[in-house]
Amino acid sequence: MKFLITAGPTREYIDPVRYISNPSTGKMGYALAQTARALGHQVVLVSGPTCLAAPAGVKLIPIVSADDMQKAVFENMLAADVIIMAAAVSDFKPASSARLKIKKDKASLQLSLKRNPDILAALGNRKHSYYLVGFAAETDHVILHAQKKLLNKNLDMIVANRVDREDTGFGSDFNEAVLLFKEGKNKRIAKTSKTKLAQVVIREIISHITAA
Ligand code: C5P
Repeated sequence: MKFLITAGPTREYIDPVRYISNPSTGKMGYALAQTARALGHQVVLVSGPTCLAAPAGVKLIPIVSADDMQKAVFENMLAADVIIMAAAVSDFKPASSARLKIKKDKASLQLSLKRNPDILAALGNRKHSYYLVGFAAETDHVILHAQKKLLNKNLDMIVANRVDREDTGFGSDFNEAVLLFKEGKNKRIAKTSKTKLAQVVIREIISHITAA
């Protein structure tokens, strides 16, 4: 099968040397790409800036901003059987980006932000034959918020995890998650490595597609 996977953060530039971003390292998305590839699938990995090397045999499309990511995803979505959005896309970007470095000659600086496109929601809206998987990074009411996203973004599955703990989530090698399926079933995954979680997620996707 053909997998399209997104990973890492996006950067939204304020001026040529400053940006808005988040602490995503891309580990989860890269683990998913590696697992799918190891099982013999074709993988396109659209990734924001990370320190990771693309897994062997995976086609890497490096991007910087959410707009770049949307463009790369849209260009590759029709060929995909499975799309997994593991990227931590910035929800907001500067309303305008300065062409020259902003000088610190004033006491304060107001930043005006505007919404970025929700790429996953757009994929759900114009749903094709692909199996669509989202991630939900939550600090509270994990299941409730994830269930809403599953429904609102028209997903087949969502992987929900807490990001307010030190030992899991952003930057960690570990994760603890609940998989929620559009059929209404949930599957809880106790704290494990991101590699193991990736294997469970890919296995669940494949078994849902083959059962359909
Ligand atoms: O709504 P929230 O940002 O929590 O949703 C998380 C899911 O949506 C993730 O799968 C993420 O990759 C995706 N997302 C997106 N575009 C955005 C924001 C989130 O594709 N602008």
